[in-house]
Amino acid sequence: MQAITLLGATGSIGASTLDVVARHPELYRIHALTGHSRVEELAALCVRFRPRVAVVGDASSASRLSALLQAQGVDTEVSWGEAALCAVASAPECTTVMAAIVGAAGLKPTLAAAQAGKKVLLANKEALVISGQLFMDAIAGSGATLLPIDSEHNAIFQCLPLAYQRQPQQYGIRRILLTASGGPFLDRDLSTLADVTPEQAVAHPNWSMGRKISVDSATMMNKGLEVIEAHWLFGASPDQIEVVIHPQSVIHSMVAYADGSVLAQLGNPDMRTPIAHALAFPERIESGVEPVDFTRIAQLNFRPPDFARVPCLKLAFDALRAGGSAATVLNAANEVAVEAFLGRMIGFRRIPELIAQVLEQVPVQAVDGLDSLLEQDRIARDLAWQLVRA
Ligand code: NAD
Ligand code: MG
Repeated sequence: MQAITLLGATGSIGASTLDVVARHPELYRIHALTGHSRVEELAALCVRFRPRVAVVGDASSASRLSALLQAQGVDTEVSWGEAALCAVASAPECTTVMAAIVGAAGLKPTLAAAQAGKKVLLANKEALVISGQLFMDAIAGSGATLLPIDSEHNAIFQCLPLAYQRQPQQYGIRRILLTASGGPFLDRDLSTLADVTPEQAVAHPNWSMGRKISVDSATMMNKGLEVIEAHWLFGASPDQIEVVIHPQSVIHSMVAYADGSVLAQLGNPDMRTPIAHALAFPERIESGVEPVDFTRIAQLNFRPPDFARVPCLKLAFDALRAGGSAATVLNAANEVAVEAFLGRMIGFRRIPELIAQVLEQVPVQAVDGLDSLLEQDRIARDLAWQLVRA
């Protein structure tokens, strides 16, 4: 029986994870659930899943959660803050950690799970983008198992040989083909992009997701972060990673081999599939998702991305090639830009401009540990907020 710590239980990935877990009570139980500010929702999840521990963002949320749980007769222990997140992610009683906090806030707890040798199910791509080699070293050093939840990376993982060890040349792997829906503005007239509202940007055509990743999908920074994620997960160089626009989101990604074979993973766009895959790996379990009905798919379309339309994708490739702290800075500037856009402080087209300005002004540093990464993250955020307010 796996004992799961679910970081980010109140989010979109959190809900999909609990849906899969609830289908298999004989295989999975919940050790800990974490949320940030949605205390009532977290309380309801604690009543249903009875975790040993629940973690929230601050002391006042913790006392509200305690009161709600006491009223329901639930004996879940309540704690709060980053140290508590790291504690539940590395607790000896837990075997498996679903890392589904959004953004840099998930870095330390996800790293704690990696260092503690857990089975780490990685949805929180920002954690890997920020910490790159450091994160992969933590996984290798502790003997942790790392399984990708991001649908593209989970698809690639499924299309790679089982014994694959981050060395593309070993198995005649020529390219990794990351598919991208292109988001809600794929064919929109560029001159009207300045008027895009947060409501329009978060309305993704194929996937229902949290607000931050939905904006990232609209700018295609999500694909940019995924290129960097693929580099670290699979050891692929920037030249071995190709982005293919595929508006239907049926093929979740592909691997092209030296002999001309291309392996693809297909499925309906529902995150319960990669979650169930990673939870049960190497077994297969029911996820609640129906297989693709090919008689109802009229067509599958593909085209190359137009880098001039989606500057964020180019910025991410450039940051990956620059190495060092560049990806950390890119991610931090993007998190600020998205927050400022959602708060109506900047327009949609300002997002890539602002990230580019931050990348120009913060020199690339060699990375020598977590403290220096966090320092670069802070410098980039401070500058990005200054630029937002300028
Ligand atoms: P979401 O906004 O729906 O949920 C985010 C979760 O993180 C919530 O539980 C929230 O309480 C928690 N959280 C937010 N800020 C926090 C903080 N400062 N400290 C601690 N916890 C905090 O987001 P989501 O769509 O579920 O995405 C989660 C992660 O998974 C992201 O990194 C995203 O890129 C990745 N991902 C999501 C999808 C998807 O379909 N939703 C697909 C692929 C990857
Ligand atoms: Mg994805």
